[in-house]
Amino acid sequence: MSVLDLIRPELRAMPGYSSARMESGSTGVLLNANESPWPQDASRPLHRYPDPQPSALREQMAALYGVRASQLLIGRGSDEAIDLLVRAFCRAGRDAILVQSPTFGMYAVAAAVQDCAVLDAPLALDRGQPFDVDVVLRSVTPATRLVFVCSPNNPTGGLVSRADVLRLAAALAGRALVVLDEAYIEFADMPSLAGDVATTPNLAVLRTLSKAHALAGARIGALIAAPAIIDVLRRIMAPYPLPTPCVDAALAALAPASLRATASRLALIKVERDRLARACDELDCVREVLPSQANFLCVRFVDAVAALSRLGMAGLIVRDVRRHEALADALRISIGLREENDRVIAALAAESVLCSTSSPPKVSAGLATPGTTRSGAGLA
Ligand code: PMP
Repeated sequence: MSVLDLIRPELRAMPGYSSARMESGSTGVLLNANESPWPQDASRPLHRYPDPQPSALREQMAALYGVRASQLLIGRGSDEAIDLLVRAFCRAGRDAILVQSPTFGMYAVAAAVQDCAVLDAPLALDRGQPFDVDVVLRSVTPATRLVFVCSPNNPTGGLVSRADVLRLAAALAGRALVVLDEAYIEFADMPSLAGDVATTPNLAVLRTLSKAHALAGARIGALIAAPAIIDVLRRIMAPYPLPTPCVDAALAALAPASLRATASRLALIKVERDRLARACDELDCVREVLPSQANFLCVRFVDAVAALSRLGMAGLIVRDVRRHEALADALRISIGLREENDRVIAALAAESVLCSTSSPPKVSAGLATPGTTRSGAGLA
């Protein structure tokens, strides 16, 4: 059974909308798309519909990720690819996706929109290997079409090893597509698995320019998958998904000088992440800092409500992740500029003064170096 057989049968053969730009390109006198013949602003010719998958950007992103252009679909953030995958693979009311909670919420939202079930193989955050391939495999049902694996995981920051992802995909060949969400992989001390897609037909990888490339506002993400999957998704996505200014911003971000700047910013973020982690770990109001390979820290507090309000009073907005059952005492803190991180440390230090006498013992003492675990909530 090929991975294409997992796609909804009615979509496999659907031709999709044939847009003017797809049919005839953008050279010649363009009288085929009911556009205005005048631009609003002569310096920015936005009166034309954009190329649905601009070849220059496709080539550059393919080169960036070390894959072929035919394996790549550019979308409005990787969020769009998540939605498209669920739509294409899951029959409403019948099929299911599988996630490992606590994880990124959009998988479940896309499933709800498509009326398909969300199965969960929760991460064992209290154990050294939170991601367990066998636990995930045992949770797969015949209805499961997509298995989302988020690495580094949002909101915990933990990694899944290449060996585990490949073992999972091999065990699910012909049964389900493994969707590896690598939104934060640039911050990790581990290479992407994008290159493995060519040899693993039921593996798809999500990448984005939103995080490491500082382009969250441009909404440019990518799905890397078998060309046959990319073809189907292209046919079901909106005709002109990528606004011209966003494509231009992405091309500028991928120019050599920008890539050099990105690399040095990435190095800074990693240094700051580890500095903030060590500082938090020493504070009495902090119960535990989960080892993170992303650009955020998931921090467990003695009193998360008090910590949230203390940070809020200092004008510091962090993500309340207490809605996740396993993180009922945790906040997720994105790594900011050095001075912003200093403000986080100062606010939490002030909070610590209050709980230094009343706090229960810490989960552990002394934060490990990245990639190791000190408390059981380590990297898989
Ligand atoms: N995956 C994960 C794990 C994320 O955390 C996010 C954004 N927070 C996304 C995907 C979506 O990112 P974007 O749509 O900006 O590419």
